[in-house]
Amino acid sequence: MLTRTNKNNGDELSILGFGCMRLPSKNGSVDEEASIELIRKCIDKGINYFDTAYFYNGGKSESILGKALSDGLRERVKIATKLPPFMVSNFSGAKKIFATQLSRLQTNYIDYYLLHMLSDLNGFIRMKDMGVVDWLEKLKKQGIIRNIGFSFHGSKNDFEQLVTAYPWDFCQIQYNYMDINNQAGRSGLILADSLGIPVIVMEPLRGGRLADRIPKEVLHEFHAYDENSTPVEWALKWIWNHPEVTVVLSGMSDEVQLEQNTRIASQMLPNSLSDKELEVFDRVMDVMHEKTKIPCTGCGYCMPCPFGVNIPGCFSVYNDKYLLNEKRNKVIYLRTLGGLSNQPAYASICKDCGKCEKLCPQTIEIRKELKRVKKEMEGPFFNIGMKIARKFMKISK
Ligand code: SF4
Ligand code: SF4
Repeated sequence: MLTRTNKNNGDELSILGFGCMRLPSKNGSVDEEASIELIRKCIDKGINYFDTAYFYNGGKSESILGKALSDGLRERVKIATKLPPFMVSNFSGAKKIFATQLSRLQTNYIDYYLLHMLSDLNGFIRMKDMGVVDWLEKLKKQGIIRNIGFSFHGSKNDFEQLVTAYPWDFCQIQYNYMDINNQAGRSGLILADSLGIPVIVMEPLRGGRLADRIPKEVLHEFHAYDENSTPVEWALKWIWNHPEVTVVLSGMSDEVQLEQNTRIASQMLPNSLSDKELEVFDRVMDVMHEKTKIPCTGCGYCMPCPFGVNIPGCFSVYNDKYLLNEKRNKVIYLRTLGGLSNQPAYASICKDCGKCEKLCPQTIEIRKELKRVKKEMEGPFFNIGMKIARKFMKISK
């Protein structure tokens, strides 16, 4: 297993981290025994970065990780877990969640602690105003939290504001060869790196879609170069080729995936893809663009929308529905466009002002396309469904 150094604190982190969100399951629920076994096998393979969150698997993810790391394994790894701001309505609520996390994880310190799914600066300011950020700093001074960071799924502009708003110890972004211009994107990765902020990458396979749902023309490109190569191999290699990336999280759910990913992780040094391999990606991008319904490049020139619509975000989820045959498109739409925050960014909040269209270099009829997105992604019961989901998740206003 190759490692990369966290330049801020000298931690040697395995370039492959274990994302504990998609743990092995049995009969529709998480299989505790198999999960513990898999986590321990990961450690045997050299993985030393484990990423979980307060609400993954309804809280079981943290508990299972805690059990797996008992018997002396805790000191061999770094634990990353997250505070969900959307479930925090006051300071004591945050403290209560953190105490629960330490108890579930059977530890008295967290190596990497993140504000979960911050999607814009307002979410961070809300935490600051509540006193949560000062308290995290105090915990850091006491050694109870070692690094303070955030995970992000918003727009490019929002990422730029967030990453420069605070001296973060690290950040976590979604990044893969389909997301060069989506969310934080390549520009966000480069910006974070230039600020000296280590970047942890999540969703390297877009939730597995880049493993088994890519268009056949893309598969053909990969196989034309090497008939034995797999889409997973290409996707992971592409990310590790970036010197700005420290750890790539993968939500492996069985040993086959673990074997495959650790094999690739034992080879990938930064800037190690050949010119010919990079040319394969150029052709793959061309195919992807040809098959894209709304030709949005994610440049963000149309942003910010005065009413808060995440225009490139709406188009990205819509395009994925067709390009990657994304079946969970409505859940992703809800999750990435403000459904779990108090700042909705859906297509339906567009007020038709037209300001954005004058700025789009692709001359996209943004208002018309947003109506198409709204019709397909929201439908008549969207607002009711969202209210129920927010209530279920106990999301505060
Ligand atoms: S037309 Fe809609 S999306 Fe565009 S700036 Fe106006 S409100 Fe925002
Ligand atoms: S300006 Fe046009 S291409 Fe750029 S993000 Fe907005 S809609 Fe997409």
